[in-house]
Amino acid sequence: MGVMNKPIVVGKVNSFYRKLRKNGYQIGNIPRSLTFVHHNICNFRCDFCYEQNEVKYNKEHLSTEEIKKLADEADELGIWEIVFQGGELLVNVDSFIEVINTFGPERFHMVLITNGWFMTPEVAERLAAAGLDSVGVSISSLNEAEHDQSRHVKGSHKKALEALKNVKAAGMDSWAQPIFGHHNSHSPELYEFLDYLQENDYGVYFILAMPYGVWKDNYMDAEDMRIFSELRKKYKNTTFDTWDFYDPNRERLSGCWSVNRLFVTPLGDVQPCPFIDISIGNVKKQSLKEIVDYGFSIKYFGETSPVCLAAQNRKFREKYLGRSASMFDLVSGGGLFQKEDYIVSGQEDAGLSGQPEGARKIQT
Ligand code: SF4
Repeated sequence: MGVMNKPIVVGKVNSFYRKLRKNGYQIGNIPRSLTFVHHNICNFRCDFCYEQNEVKYNKEHLSTEEIKKLADEADELGIWEIVFQGGELLVNVDSFIEVINTFGPERFHMVLITNGWFMTPEVAERLAAAGLDSVGVSISSLNEAEHDQSRHVKGSHKKALEALKNVKAAGMDSWAQPIFGHHNSHSPELYEFLDYLQENDYGVYFILAMPYGVWKDNYMDAEDMRIFSELRKKYKNTTFDTWDFYDPNRERLSGCWSVNRLFVTPLGDVQPCPFIDISIGNVKKQSLKEIVDYGFSIKYFGETSPVCLAAQNRKFREKYLGRSASMFDLVSGGGLFQKEDYIVSGQEDAGLSGQPEGARKIQT
């Protein structure tokens, strides 16, 4: 179908752009996208995945009615992009297509994040016909042995490269999601991969290395930031959350997307971003508007941050993140944030009353 053939999406993107321009190209409080984790079932056991011990939650997912309500509410808020993520949603292609239909592909830019294993030419064509627009494949380099080893699946690198090709052949946007950070900013392997992606006309959606676990204390320094800005200029096929993608000079920052891009878990909990393990509400109990209003009342999310809060803001990370290892056991924003963390006083009560069931409060 393609986004340009979706007039409702074009209208919403234009409205988003007008708001962005009016706001001095700062993302501010403008809702943009929603990442929807339908379930966490997966055929891989990747070393870096925090979901691998969570098989007991495999049966958790929102009902069709709950998904429909969420989609309608997202549409009303002007959200124009839905990013589908698992687990691996292509373990059951029919069920994924049903989810696409429930959201209504005509009203959103539809994106899938996948490990690529099941993305045959036939599956890619079915997905494109169902209204999927773009696919991000989880692949970080051309190093086949390392890729296969970290996924514990032989042949996974080959399939990921094939997936990029099959997606593009089916007429969808096809991109890879390499990780950038202090650990690889000077790595020739990264540049070899970026060259490959550019030559083959694939997109690049950067994920910043989160400074925890093996990368603890691995914050990007000024030199890494300089290199990241240079990459942005050299490789025109790249994008990252804080970059203003309307800037032809590829210099302007529109700011961190926390709450502008919501993350909804199979239990219905809502995080400000996939990398911020804090719940700001639950779609089974609250409207998406209430959740978004509450999220933006927290100053870290409501005020524009020029850097990625999760990867680059050491103070924020050390004070608020890393308390949960799972999207099924989130810390509640209502219990975590204190009066001084809110832009409008009184909003902390909304967070407390809107806590997801089972969300634990941290001990302070
Ligand atoms: S915290 Fe980082 S990854 Fe999350 S929305 Fe902000 S820029 Fe994106």
